[in-house]
Amino acid sequence: MADNVDLLIIGGGINGAGIARDAAGRGLRVLLVEQDDLASHTSSASTKLIHGGLRYLEYYEFRLVREALQERERLLTIAPHIIWPLEFVLPHAAGQRPAWMIRAGLFLYDHLARRQRLAASRAVRFPPHPAADVLKPDYRRGFTYADCWVEDSRLVVLNAMDAAAHGADVRTRTKLITARPDQAVWRADLEDRRTGLRSSVTARAMVNAAGPWVGEVLSAKLGRNTEKTVRMIKGSHIIVRRLFEGAFAFILQNPDQRIVFAIPYEGDFTLIGTTDIPYEGDPSVVDITPDETAYLCESVSRYFRTHVTPADVVRSYSGVRPLYDDHAANASAVTRDYVLDVEGGAGQPALLSVFGGKITTYRKLAEHALEKLLPVMALPIGTPWTANSALPGGDMPGADFDAYLRALAALYPSLPPALLHRLARAYGTRAERVLGTARTMADLGEDFGGGLTEAELAYLVAHEWAREAEDVLWRRSKLALHVPQGTAGRVAARLRREPVKEATSFL
Ligand code: FAD
Repeated sequence: MADNVDLLIIGGGINGAGIARDAAGRGLRVLLVEQDDLASHTSSASTKLIHGGLRYLEYYEFRLVREALQERERLLTIAPHIIWPLEFVLPHAAGQRPAWMIRAGLFLYDHLARRQRLAASRAVRFPPHPAADVLKPDYRRGFTYADCWVEDSRLVVLNAMDAAAHGADVRTRTKLITARPDQAVWRADLEDRRTGLRSSVTARAMVNAAGPWVGEVLSAKLGRNTEKTVRMIKGSHIIVRRLFEGAFAFILQNPDQRIVFAIPYEGDFTLIGTTDIPYEGDPSVVDITPDETAYLCESVSRYFRTHVTPADVVRSYSGVRPLYDDHAANASAVTRDYVLDVEGGAGQPALLSVFGGKITTYRKLAEHALEKLLPVMALPIGTPWTANSALPGGDMPGADFDAYLRALAALYPSLPPALLHRLARAYGTRAERVLGTARTMADLGEDFGGGLTEAELAYLVAHEWAREAEDVLWRRSKLALHVPQGTAGRVAARLRREPVKEATSFL
């Protein structure tokens, strides 16, 4: 017997998860399938910024920048645990974009959308700005402005969780094999990649949110021809031990006119990225090249007192941007805006394909997707609802993370403050579900190192679709950077030994 749903969504990256949440909340029966883990691909490989994209102003992308700027404060409010403001320092020197141009760009950035919580840009001198301790003495002046940080893969998981809370069926490690129209519905064949079992589903409409695979899904799985394509542009990041103190990040201009970010990361590290390299291979196996590593090291070393070399790299990651192909001449100039393509209606099942997009604009993209799709399905659009509805764990009074952390510490006075801080950042108010009625570390079950306990593992399995060590250590958390050697093996072994029990069952 085939399942029967309104909407079948292909892809558990940010766009698929965001559309699933919005659609389920509007009352649709939704099935989301992701061939790997949630956020396995591009949506865990970003620079992790909720940003307007200062440099996109140079390409006159005013629509995109405005929408993105508006989203910053909305997302900050609905997920204050995984999204927070970050100050960016832009050092300026002769030979770069002229100061008047940067000032004009920042003026637009400040005024294209309403700001309540984020600071306005300003001109600064080094010193007194503490970036002086990091920058070479040649850099005496610059600018600062505010954008936001986001835990990208957790944003995907939270959207999937909220979709499920509204009734969506979310299946990870489940691949769309093929789909064909049958009168007014899609008949799709799915494969569970862990068991190899096949199943069928019928759907009134399908969303192709397969990111870098959007073209492959259209041609190989649906047998469609389309003129629209994505242009795959690889971007890589390196992680090095912390290069500087201070809560600010740097945006550094390169002689090739590109910019590179250096961002405080996970307490002990600095994240440096990114590159823009045209890519034509398999999107699931992208890796950084020695040239990219050297480029990123040089970008930072040009500005910082500390010289960074490839030997300093602790970890790296790469992803493929699935950009809408607007036939721009170079990789950095390809539009970062998204295009939604809808087919169907008049007795044909509907199909919406997503080309391009940013983490930052995923929520608006989902609203636009449903505005386009629902009329083709002959359904009312309903009321957009995601702008003011907290994501799981984000329901903190006044969206005030610090106040919530204090309240959590009062609830669990005997647990280490660093653990409470990490859990509050990751899970927000759901940290209390992770911890249950535990009083001491021993109450949280087996300790896997780096503060990862069986209670947390159990929560991740029960509520966040974690199935393998990498899901836990790299996508649900960044514990891979902190745990001792051997933890990954122990977590993998524990996950194979079902079932992992939830917190209260240890007491
Ligand atoms: P994906 O995250 O790739 O999701 C698509 C999913 O579809 C994949 O998980 C895949 O496994 C699945 N899939 C494919 N085929 C099938 C099938 N047959 N069956 C089932 N599932 C399937 N944006 C920002 O806003 N801020 C940033 O700072 C930022 N930095 C970036 C830096 C880099 C280096 C890169 C590469 C991107 C960056 N972006 C940033 C852009 C952002 O990351 C992407 O636009 C976004 O993650 C794309 O999400 P997606 O859901 O479209 O694709």
